[in-house]
Amino acid sequence: MNHDNTPKKMRVSFDLDEVLFVSANTHKTEPPLPFPLRNIYKERLRLGTPQLINRLQELDYEVWVYTSSFRSEGYIKRLFRLYGIKFDGIVNGNRHLKEVQRDNPTILPQKVPTFYRISLHIDDESIICTYGREYGFNTYQLDAPDDEWAEKIIKRAEEIRNRSDEFVK
Ligand SMILES: [Mg+2]
Repeated sequence: MNHDNTPKKMRVSFDLDEVLFVSANTHKTEPPLPFPLRNIYKERLRLGTPQLINRLQELDYEVWVYTSSFRSEGYIKRLFRLYGIKFDGIVNGNRHLKEVQRDNPTILPQKVPTFYRISLHIDDESIICTYGREYGFNTYQLDAPDDEWAEKIIKRAEEIRNRSDEFVK
């Protein structure tokens, strides 16, 4: 039971593949990093990623990464640092296996954002979004190019935060 009533920052998490990392052939993207960094960090960011993450943090949200990929935390941190982004938390496939799945005989979903007190998770996969209902987290499904994705995600986050007393606003 949590007796600590101090408001906390609401946590929002983003999937990486097909959400923040997209193909430049199908999506508008941020410019690649300068040479030689672009040869180390090959992923391309969805256009508007740095502005959206920084905006959410200015609005008093914590922003996390929750990916089922096995890219290391250091790699993810360094790549986003180069775009001026500092996440509040990073969960990759290894961390999920170690902290969430553990030796549980039942195979849990690939992502359980509620385990990390994440209230809103953005993902391209409908299966993850379906689990949201079962495991009690809100989701926003982003599975295509959308010029208004940033505004829509901020709006969704605000709706969730406004209906709860738990959070700093
Ligand atoms: Mg994905």
